Amino acid sequence: MARTATAIINLNAIKQNYLHSKSLAAPAKAIATIKANAYGHGAIEVANALTDVADAFGVACIEEAIELRDAGIKQPILLLEGFFTADELEYISENNLWCAIHNQHQLDALKAAKLKQPVNVWLKMDSGMHRLGFLPKEYADAWQQLSNLEQVASITHMSHFSSADDLSSPLTKKQTELFINTIGELPGEISIANSSAVLTKAVKGRNQWVRPGIIIYGSSPIDDDELASPLIPAMTFKAKVISQRTINKDESVGYNGLWTAEETTKIGTVSIGYADGYPRHAENGTPVFINGKKSQILGRVSMDMVMVDLSMFEQQDCIGFDVELWGDNISVNEVANCAETISYSLLCGLTRRVSKTYI
Ligand code: PLP
Repeated sequence: MARTATAIINLNAIKQNYLHSKSLAAPAKAIATIKANAYGHGAIEVANALTDVADAFGVACIEEAIELRDAGIKQPILLLEGFFTADELEYISENNLWCAIHNQHQLDALKAAKLKQPVNVWLKMDSGMHRLGFLPKEYADAWQQLSNLEQVASITHMSHFSSADDLSSPLTKKQTELFINTIGELPGEISIANSSAVLTKAVKGRNQWVRPGIIIYGSSPIDDDELASPLIPAMTFKAKVISQRTINKDESVGYNGLWTAEETTKIGTVSIGYADGYPRHAENGTPVFINGKKSQILGRVSMDMVMVDLSMFEQQDCIGFDVELWGDNISVNEVANCAETISYSLLCGLTRRVSKTYI
């Protein structure tokens, strides 16, 4: 039996989730955010699966865009962090990349560049996230500087929410108002909504582009069954039971003996660990799904293995049983909650030891 940690990626689920986000945001167009190797799902495979429906793709940096262009992806690709060195501008201009501009250094480099084709710029405003972008008081000046340049084909207004996943936060409304009011009468399309804002329809009025990410992969950033239920989990992360034993009452399991049996218990060892991207902190009690039944992690997660409760299969030989770590039966959000992290981090964190299968 091979060591089998596998991520099964359902490309049709990704397409359905993208179309769902578009229907929520209509008539806005949607950038499918496929940065970070499509949140761990495989950027080229995801882009190919969306190629006949996606309005555009979003990636973090030029290396991610080059990977897509080299694979023959033709849609516009937005560089969410823009460019880092002036020589990247040539590639951007010749390969129809859309480029965020978020600081004066980038703006100056663009002014100095000799380009074959003018660039579609996404001018970023810092409306409250305080990560990237021109402050509202600097914004109109940045727009003026760009609007006079022959290197610029168009300017889209862009900002990013800090707290759209927190429905009790006043920040989303505050950021929206600041963004819209600062743009004022400046011409150009606008974009601010991420997955959370798409799900909650937080932006009304001017909103030509949304930028969903995590919902395309079937995970809701908001803990709300109604919002989450149309989303189809795109990744099933699986491994196998590779060993089994029965331990006595008061015997403990794994590193530092974090779990102790209260009675004679059948346990199994599963070929998954933090070196595969399963979270180290998903210890004791994190749900797993084994051969059609819900079970749980016992003790600590080690580098290559984890132990699970097999007491529901007392009479059966469990070697080779499939163990779903997350997927249709165990949501990645449940595992993330147990490990005190977020689904984004888990999905992006699978390592190269995990083979991917596309269905
Ligand atoms: N837009 C920008 C600028 C981002 O940085 C991200 C992700 O971090 C997204 C859109 C997509 O966010 P989400 O995955 O929450 O939809």
